[in-house]
Amino acid sequence: MKKVLSIVSVILLIIVLAILVVFILNLDKALKKQNQQKPSGSPTTQPSQPAKKPALSEPISSAKSRITKKPFGIYITPQTSPVQPEKFAGYHTGTDFETTSSEASVDVPIYAACGGKIRLQEIVQGYGGVIVQDCTLDNQPVTVLYGHLNIRQAHVLSVGQEVNARDKIAVLAPENSELSGGERKHLHLGIHKGTTLDFRGYVQNQSELSGWLDAKSYL
Ligand SMILES: [Zn+2]
Repeated sequence: MKKVLSIVSVILLIIVLAILVVFILNLDKALKKQNQQKPSGSPTTQPSQPAKKPALSEPISSAKSRITKKPFGIYITPQTSPVQPEKFAGYHTGTDFETTSSEASVDVPIYAACGGKIRLQEIVQGYGGVIVQDCTLDNQPVTVLYGHLNIRQAHVLSVGQEVNARDKIAVLAPENSELSGGERKHLHLGIHKGTTLDFRGYVQNQSELSGWLDAKSYL
C-alpha cells in the first residue's frame, strides 16, 4: 500500500514539474516577444516614416485650414447655406477655400494643384474668372476648375500651356467683382472625373456628385 502511494506521489510530482516547466517556457517566450516589440532603451514609437507625398499640391497657402464654409459635397439651400446671402441650392461639387479679412486688399496667389495643360481661361457665369486644367489624379484623367480668379492680371498663361504643380496661375478676384462672380473673395476648386468639362458648382443628387472628387482627401 505504502509502495503504491509513493508511486502515485512520484507520478503527481512529475506531472506538477512538467506543468511548471511548460509554464516557465511559455513565460520566457512571451517576454522575448514583448522585448522584440519594445526594444529596451529605444522609444516606443515606430521609427518615423517619410510622410506620403500628397497627390495634389496646395492651390492656395495653408489650404486645408481655409476649408471652413463649403467643403466638398455639402448640401445647401438659400436658407441653410453657411454663406449668406445664398443663391444656390444643391450638393457642392467643389471645395471652397476662404480668405481672411487681412487678405481683402492684397493679392492672394493661386497655384496649380497638379501638373498639366491649361484647358481654358475665361469668364463663366457664377464663377467669374475661371481656369480649367487637365490633370491626372489616382491614375485617371480629371479636369481641375479654379473659380473666382482675376484672370485679367498678367500671368502669361495661355491655353494649351503645360504648367507644373505649384506654379502660380492667377490671383483671387476682389470681393463682389465681375471676376469673382459677384461673390466673396475665395477659391472654388472643383475636380471633375474624366476629360469632359462640367461647370456645375452644385448638383441635385448624390449620384451626380459622384462625378467629382473631394480635393481635401488629396491634399
Ligand atoms: Zn464653391
